[in-house]
Amino acid sequence: MLLYVHVPFCRSKCAYCSFYSVPLPQGAAGEDLLGSYLAALLREMRRRAGQCGRVSVETIFFGGGTPSLLPGRAVAGILDEARRSFNVAADAEISLEANPESLLLSDLPREARKAGVNRLSIGVQSLDDGDLALLGRAHGSRAARAAVDVARAAGFASVNLDVMWGLPGRGGRAPSQMRLLALLKEIADLRPEHISAYELTPERGTPLADALEKGELVRPGEKALASMYLAGAEYLESRGFLQYEVSNFARLGFACRHNLGCWQGKDYLGLGPSATSTLGSRRFTNPADLREWIAATARGSDPPCEHLDAATRLEEMLMLRLRTTAGLSLAEWRRASGRSFPADFAALLALLRREGLAGMRNGYFFLTRTGMLVSDAIIARFFADLRERVPSGLPDAAPGLD
Ligand code: SF4
Repeated sequence: MLLYVHVPFCRSKCAYCSFYSVPLPQGAAGEDLLGSYLAALLREMRRRAGQCGRVSVETIFFGGGTPSLLPGRAVAGILDEARRSFNVAADAEISLEANPESLLLSDLPREARKAGVNRLSIGVQSLDDGDLALLGRAHGSRAARAAVDVARAAGFASVNLDVMWGLPGRGGRAPSQMRLLALLKEIADLRPEHISAYELTPERGTPLADALEKGELVRPGEKALASMYLAGAEYLESRGFLQYEVSNFARLGFACRHNLGCWQGKDYLGLGPSATSTLGSRRFTNPADLREWIAATARGSDPPCEHLDAATRLEEMLMLRLRTTAGLSLAEWRRASGRSFPADFAALLALLRREGLAGMRNGYFFLTRTGMLVSDAIIARFFADLRERVPSGLPDAAPGLD
């Protein structure tokens, strides 16, 4: 099983983000809030362990929000409880997301490393101070560079850097491929083991989305975005970062096991406000409200549980596997659905292969990099086919998925 811990605190709100997060006040009020959060988290962990049994946990991921706002002792306390409650593998991957500024004056990097965190994911996003200001990030480029040094000094041998591309042009400068390639060069020169390069997609209602809607900022066009993606991915591979998912690149042996596990459909348990869990065909999501979630853990009440039917699970399998460069195992599909993928989708597969959008290799169906650019449209076509032509043949239960 994969374990996810949601840490809902942020110092300030970035201009493009609508994730659930709350400000963490300084001083005693902040300490109180943090104490209530931690007590609720440990309660929830014990309760879930009671329900699931002492299951094996192969990865733990602290996501947010800003997990690096936690003091080191809090991370150690959460991991101690996880080891008491579950059977955490000796070689478990334990990742923690961090914002550069919060790493610099904190005991967190050393304490977290000592407590067993072995992968640090730093939200650098850009090394251009103007772009960082546009994104509303709380750090500048100097802090981003310093954070990598802090991570190394604390003993992290597996460091991911998050970057964003497809930013709007500003100050008369056109958004260009050259700017992206220059950023990726600087990022690669910092010698991380892993790079996540996400296209900026401002959530509706955020300041950045509003500015784009009003025309105050202009996004690059679709063609420019496509050529940026292809050039950026090619550049990262030329620097030894192998693409293993739409937005993720890693040196050999450093792919994120937690995220890969999610794309491979492994069971995951989410703890903390707004966290989702999927265990077999059951899915439930905690309240996206810190106070409400704390109260629910105190009452010992569970969020409503959704039962995923076989068709939904097969759709999710297809969608998640096609995010990865490995693609969908035809044998896994047959086990799960009792159907032949190549036979059921023969016409669509021929079309995609003719257009250079997909391929077949060693029993796997995968999207090419160009296919990944239009993956939403491709997956929508598969879903339409799945619902229209295949449902009569789908089993009511999907024993191959459990
Ligand atoms: S992008 Fe990350 S740091 Fe910024 S507000 Fe959202 S969750 Fe917080």
